[in-house]
Amino acid sequence: MTAADEPTTFADLALREELVGALASLGYEEPTPIQREAIPPLLEGRDLLGQAATGTGKTAAFALPLLHALEKRGRGSAPVALVLAPTRELAMQVSEATHKYGRDLGARVLPVYGGQPIGRQLRELERGVDIVVGTPGRVIDHINRGTLKLSEVRTVVLDEADEMLDMGFAEDIEAILEAAPGERQTVLFSATMPPRVDKIARRHLRNPVRIEIQREQTPTGEAPQVRQSAYVVARPHKPAALGRVLDVEAPEAAIVFCRTREEVDSLTETLNGRGYRAEALHGGLSQEQRDKVMGRLRGRTADLLVATDVAARGLDVDHLTHVVNYNVPSAPEAYVHRIGRVGRAGREGVAITLAEPREHRMLKTIERATGQKIVVEKVPTVADLQARRMELTRVALHEALIEDQFESYRVVLDALTDEYDVVQVALAAIKLAHEATTGPAGEDAEDIPTAAPRPETSYSDGPAAKRGGAERPVRKSRPDAARVFIGLGRAAGLRPQDVVGAITGESSLSGRDIGSIEISDRFALVEVPSAAADEVVQALRKTKIKGRKATVRLDQGPTR
Ligand code: AMP
Repeated sequence: MTAADEPTTFADLALREELVGALASLGYEEPTPIQREAIPPLLEGRDLLGQAATGTGKTAAFALPLLHALEKRGRGSAPVALVLAPTRELAMQVSEATHKYGRDLGARVLPVYGGQPIGRQLRELERGVDIVVGTPGRVIDHINRGTLKLSEVRTVVLDEADEMLDMGFAEDIEAILEAAPGERQTVLFSATMPPRVDKIARRHLRNPVRIEIQREQTPTGEAPQVRQSAYVVARPHKPAALGRVLDVEAPEAAIVFCRTREEVDSLTETLNGRGYRAEALHGGLSQEQRDKVMGRLRGRTADLLVATDVAARGLDVDHLTHVVNYNVPSAPEAYVHRIGRVGRAGREGVAITLAEPREHRMLKTIERATGQKIVVEKVPTVADLQARRMELTRVALHEALIEDQFESYRVVLDALTDEYDVVQVALAAIKLAHEATTGPAGEDAEDIPTAAPRPETSYSDGPAAKRGGAERPVRKSRPDAARVFIGLGRAAGLRPQDVVGAITGESSLSGRDIGSIEISDRFALVEVPSAAADEVVQALRKTKIKGRKATVRLDQGPTR
């Protein structure tokens, strides 16, 4: 039995009732592997070095123990935990997740990052907080101003340590760790473990528990031979992208795996609304309801089963052709387990994974662990879909021609050929047949944008970008764009991802607000929305890029 099969529940992990309750109401059915392994030692107060990428559930793995240890504290209290994250986006996500998990405990969680007016952060800090989640630059700022006191901090978490170092935050991290009390718990999560991360771990972690999410290599023979592909799409486009992929793949029967009960319910509703025959299956259903759902799938009155891992455990459907991961699974074992449901007995099986840009790394981890390639494909375009639908109509007509049972319709043909050419009549009949089987094409009028894996990898991922599905959209200069000059260039090792990282980490912009980036030997020019240009300049002046202070100003020069 692999770790993924152990029936550990959140209650088994001895977490406080309020936390178990909050997780249940979020629809989490069981801990992910990283949570199962990390939570017990963290509850004991051990230091921890975890190799895990986004998508593994690492946030809850460190946030739940922090919340478990939380006591009610009065007004004006200084934080007991500090989480450092590389970007504003991640700091916000971690802070929101921690806030949700700690809802019933009244946990006070404060995100601090550049770009947000500092006044609000100051007021909140004064009022008292329990957990601060911030980018290193802004955290150092607050420490230097004396507005963030670390004297009560019992735990420091470094999230995505490799990314923080890549963005030039090494010195800030060192300074923050030096400023925190020596008697503390230190937790470090990183998707990769380059020597620089290892060095920080050796300096600042004491006898840490080590956890690696791809510990075991799955013997290649064990993994089924299944066609495996992935689509990188931003969250808001996922339902539409799934619809497209399902239309083109036309599965006989498929299981779509989701993370939570809520996701299962909402996706089932969306799919049914779009005309698919989908059934929900999750741990919240009674045995009777489950039996009904399975009956519909086996009886082929449903062709999509939307399920959580827990609910699908032990489920066996003979005619299953496709497994769809609506999210990247939280561990390679879960992936292997899921796709093992198709491709049996020599039949073709297909595994499809939708990954958000941030989860791209987890795909790589799974590829490494399974030793099998997951091909990143482009979400089918409107044209692909139309071609596929035409093909289906052609096949249907061809079958009808072979069957040769249409004599009774000859009266209609005879009546029409008095007035029209036979070819015209045939074309009109094809149109009707096409529309009757595929429906009007209204919803598919627009193409779904392909997402970059994540801003900082999109530039270096040359081969992936060429393969398709991974390129950063080419940006046109917009009339409302301003250019910011940064006095660092290739000579200083500056890469586009450093620029994107610094801007998203320290200002209110997200990767998609950033336009073209040109890097020459000595300087870089980056396009940002005019309205945010001053903010970006101010933010970049305060921070370090590639560990250095750079000249930053609005570029007034002519467009080259
Ligand atoms: P993370 O790797 O921390 O970014 O988490 C990835 C996603 O998994 C987030 O959307 C979480 O809400 C979700 N998640 C984390 N733990 C669980 C769990 N035990 N069950 C279901 N979903 C989870």
